[in-house]
Amino acid sequence: MYYRPDKINDALYSLSKEKLTIAAGCTDLLPSTQQENLGNNILDISGIKSLRHISFENGFRKIGSGVTWTDLVENNELPKCYDMLKECSLQIGSKQIQNLGTIGGNLCNASPAADGVPCLLSLDASIELLSLNGKRVLKLEDFIKGSRETELKNNEILSAILIPKEAEIGRSSFLKLGARKYLVISIAMIACKLNLKKDVISEIAISVGSCSAVAKRIKSLENLLIGKSIKDELTSIILNYNYENYLSPINDIRGTNTYRFKASKVLVKDTIIKTINKFNLKG
Ligand SMILES: Cc1cc2nc3c(=O)[nH]c(=O)nc-3n(C[C@H](O)[C@H](O)[C@H](O)COP(=O)(O)OP(=O)(O)OC[C@H]3O[C@@H](n4cnc5c(N)ncnc54)[C@H](O)[C@@H]3O)c2cc1C
Repeated sequence: MYYRPDKINDALYSLSKEKLTIAAGCTDLLPSTQQENLGNNILDISGIKSLRHISFENGFRKIGSGVTWTDLVENNELPKCYDMLKECSLQIGSKQIQNLGTIGGNLCNASPAADGVPCLLSLDASIELLSLNGKRVLKLEDFIKGSRETELKNNEILSAILIPKEAEIGRSSFLKLGARKYLVISIAMIACKLNLKKDVISEIAISVGSCSAVAKRIKSLENLLIGKSIKDELTSIILNYNYENYLSPINDIRGTNTYRFKASKVLVKDTIIKTINKFNLKG
């Protein structure tokens, strides 16, 4: 069977009746089959317009799961703190992948190298899951349980990503390290959002991806940096921080774990400095 409903309720009804594979942009799904087609029992949600929408409701920015990377880049209403998500979107695969691939698919596929995850962790994102039984909202860090493992149930669709209004402050940046210039699979990636009061860091969120089974917020480093002046020795705090307690990078064809540790330290420093440089500081 191949279903392509245009209403979310019809999709949820089909999911409640039989075991179906959800297909959005198919940029993860199709390569994973290693075949030329998706096979049977597909629920194609790409025709559901309500999933491809960004709005602000009840104190939350709501990014529909069907929003593509190109949609994010082209959205002019998102505040500056979403710049990291736009910088990330522009580095996903190629233009063709950005046009088809969705933010919801990136989260549900739950690859350790999913570039959207660190950005959304740094935005304090939650996940809205719908089924015929109702709605569940989970923090993103509780939704992704491990490499390719999520809390999604067979009868659920990830409908939206929710960002609280309080997280929509400051400026942000995303940096990704890979082995080539285009179609880069991350060796490490960092998403940083911070706010300054005069020249003092008042808030900061730093997330590291590709260096553990699931991307992680480094909250104890954030705590060390809050209250520090940007004229202080930020670089030595960042480079001397003990990442070994938080990250557990693997050895693979793209890099050894030793290299990933070293690279992620430098990348954290560069991402923080890039973000600070976005503030219009005088003197
Ligand atoms: C050449 C190439 C380059 C790539 N480069 C990058 C890159 O640089 N960075 C990166 O992070 N990724 C990259 N990817 C991976 C992929 O493009 C992204 O993860 C993309 O965002 C996946 O979205 P999709 O809509 O295509 O997901 P799909 O392939 O349609 O689905 C992925 C998984 O999520 C499930 N799913 C999708 N939507 C939902 C939903 N709303 N509710 C419940 N389940 C759902 C599907 O069942 C499937 O298991 C690349 C892929 C390719 C082929």
